Amino acid sequence: MRPDALTVWRNEEVRKRLSWYLSVMRGRVPPKFKIARLIDIGAEGIDEIKVLEEKELWRLHEKGRKNFLSLWKEAKEGSLGVKELEKLEKPKVSFLDLKAELSKRLTDPCRLCERRCMVRRFRGEIGACRLEGTAYVHSAFLHMGEEAPLVPSGTIFYGGCNFTCVYCQNFDISQVQPRTGLPVTSELLARIQDDLASRGARNINHVGGEPTPNLFVIVDSLRYVRANIAQLWNSNFYMSYEALNILLDIIDIWLPDFKYGNNQCALRLSAVPRYFETITRNLKVAVEWGDMIIRHLVLPNHLECCTKPVLRWISKNLPKDKILVNIMDQYTPLHLVSKYPKMWPDIARRPRYEEIVEARRYASELGILWEPIS
Ligand code: SF4
Repeated sequence: MRPDALTVWRNEEVRKRLSWYLSVMRGRVPPKFKIARLIDIGAEGIDEIKVLEEKELWRLHEKGRKNFLSLWKEAKEGSLGVKELEKLEKPKVSFLDLKAELSKRLTDPCRLCERRCMVRRFRGEIGACRLEGTAYVHSAFLHMGEEAPLVPSGTIFYGGCNFTCVYCQNFDISQVQPRTGLPVTSELLARIQDDLASRGARNINHVGGEPTPNLFVIVDSLRYVRANIAQLWNSNFYMSYEALNILLDIIDIWLPDFKYGNNQCALRLSAVPRYFETITRNLKVAVEWGDMIIRHLVLPNHLECCTKPVLRWISKNLPKDKILVNIMDQYTPLHLVSKYPKMWPDIARRPRYEEIVEARRYASELGILWEPIS
């Protein structure tokens, strides 16, 4: 165990801001997906929901959410612990079953992220994320290098990504060979999660590549996971609103990247359109639905166009007493930038010490809490 993985919890602000995650981690309350698994949506069997129109499924989803919210409230207030939850009767079709069905519908034609490719992934068509209808796990292990409150983190690396970052550090699994990992069924993915939990993981960290294109298998796998373990969404946060809506009731802690302060940099460096409005929309919603650590990777020469606007937006639009921000200094020119540095001269070096100091000084000036986890 890294020493700061223990000492970080001495910080009262960290305990307060990550209070739900901490309670799940300590076994005081069930993770959200276990609550979702006990909400009855009033159907007699799975086949009954499979024939419903998507609009009707969303209507049932809204109904299920009301019941979810009341049970989640009881858990947050301390009257619904893991033991009490286990005594509740299991429904024939749960809110989680419904979410799994909706996730599959969103995958074919695919609208899981804001690219909205509309490709028929279950018929073998490949989207901009370079994936068809299978999820590939490239590795799964106890990660000791994540933020202190998260380690050891039961990290699962999925292949494929809806971004094409020219400096990607995981370019092999996200862009070059996304479909060479282990193809996983929902049941196998659940076993991987239970195994990580039994080896001491504090959370299941869905990452990649990017988890969003793999959401349909991840959500379905939670129907089979036994361990009471927090679910962590480690993502570029470019999911569609519908995909986010599915995740809201099952993710305990969000770990979004907030890379760019404007759409031009996002388009040039990650080939992604409508970046800023999509990420900010999703952040505003997700922050109300779980704990959150935002990651911002400081890019060299991007202090004024990206780092400062990102920090300013966070301080103006998110509850400052709720979030933690990791201001990351580890940018290294990799992948295409290392091959063709003249094409991206602005990011063809590591950030300077002064740039990191200025980023962190500016965050402090805005009242953003970053020190305990950066
Ligand atoms: S996840 Fe996004 S990029 Fe991939 S196919 Fe779906 S809409 Fe396209």
